[in-house]
Amino acid sequence: MNIAIIGSGLTGTLAAISLANAGSRVDLYERLSDEELVDRDRTYAITHSSRKILEKVGIWSHIVSDLVPFQYLNVIDYELNKNVQFVVSDLNQNDQKYASVGWIAEHKKTMLTLLEYISHLENINKIPTSVIPNTNNYDLIVAADGFNSITKKKLNTPSFTFNYDQICITAKVLLRGVKSNEAFEILNSEGPFAVLPLGGDLFQIICSQSRKIGSQNLSLPKSLFLDYLSTILPSNIEPDTLVDEPKSYPISFLLNYSFHSGKYIYLGETSHAFHPVGGQGLNLCWRDVDCLSNLISSSFLKKNKLLIPFCYSASRFIDVLSISILTDSLVRYSRSNIKIFFIARRFVFFILKKSKIARNLILNLMTNGLN
Ligand SMILES: Cc1cc2nc3c(=O)[nH]c(=O)nc-3n(C[C@H](O)[C@H](O)[C@H](O)COP(=O)(O)OP(=O)(O)OC[C@H]3O[C@@H](n4cnc5c(N)ncnc54)[C@H](O)[C@@H]3O)c2cc1C
Repeated sequence: MNIAIIGSGLTGTLAAISLANAGSRVDLYERLSDEELVDRDRTYAITHSSRKILEKVGIWSHIVSDLVPFQYLNVIDYELNKNVQFVVSDLNQNDQKYASVGWIAEHKKTMLTLLEYISHLENINKIPTSVIPNTNNYDLIVAADGFNSITKKKLNTPSFTFNYDQICITAKVLLRGVKSNEAFEILNSEGPFAVLPLGGDLFQIICSQSRKIGSQNLSLPKSLFLDYLSTILPSNIEPDTLVDEPKSYPISFLLNYSFHSGKYIYLGETSHAFHPVGGQGLNLCWRDVDCLSNLISSSFLKKNKLLIPFCYSASRFIDVLSISILTDSLVRYSRSNIKIFFIARRFVFFILKKSKIARNLILNLMTNGLN
């Protein structure tokens, strides 16, 4: 099959590899240079669903040494003063043998490995432009051109979108009093707050808060920013050194009404973008890739190519919708101070603490999605 992919971010690049492995000829269009693609300061939580996809395309063994595994995921509800810890034995049996609840990946290393891998694949042709000269040359066109997709605008594909009244602040910090193999998701009334291990004492802070408080915190000198962090970190954890300048980005919700239009298929942030709570973003984008490459490998659909975009939309709907509801509910849960809901919140923590089955259900949903 002849396929064009627009956009070579982490979604488009993995799609190119996966579709090329499935026997397609891929033209990969990207307006940025490889250096620009690599030069992003982002940190991703990688779940077992991503691990399985990377194994399938043959990249896992190249990437795993760059990832930081974590064995404990602590979820803390500050308002209730409750916490629950997810551990490796809460995962499904097959995932347990990897001895990690998940992994943390830095953008630079991950992007570099994918681009390096692409350079060895003969049936991928990288084209450094944003304009497809003749769309008739392709059986399918995959739009992976991100949140502000021009392709989607041109095709007038509608989506449901809104901006949270929050920004996301990210910073790398040296911490004391925390193990190098644990991650935290802290739910407080200002917004969810994640602490992700980067090896040794180094941690990535991903902190969502109202635009007003967020911009005040961003303008603080380093020492005061550390003082601020110590007020929101658990009392046994002390921030020691701020390793880089805190950065911020706005948080939006985006969900397409359809994941295709004619022979165009929308992958990754072109079709969905959610709040960073729970670290679902990139994993969901990569599950899009896996779904499309499974469809393309099907012998029935090879003979009925026109059905692929529709089948793709139908197959992705439940997973994407459930993760959108889950992440948005977590944000609302975290920020709600309506006392009556506290009873339900206490009940959720009680069940999670007492029941391994409940922890397995939640962790499995977060790590494998609904496919
Ligand atoms: C500022 C910022 C910080 C973030 N930080 C984090 C984080 O710390 N952790 C986390 O989990 N997630 C983070 N995210 C979200 C995460 O980056 C996305 O989930 C992920 O990048 C989605 O990948 P993608 O390939 O779908 O889209 P993108 O990464 O946006 O890739 C789209 C690609 O398409 C290219 N493109 C666009 N238009 C065209 C065109 N017309 N022709 C050719 N190419 C085109 C772009 O140059 C780009 O390379 C962040 C997002 C932003 C905006």
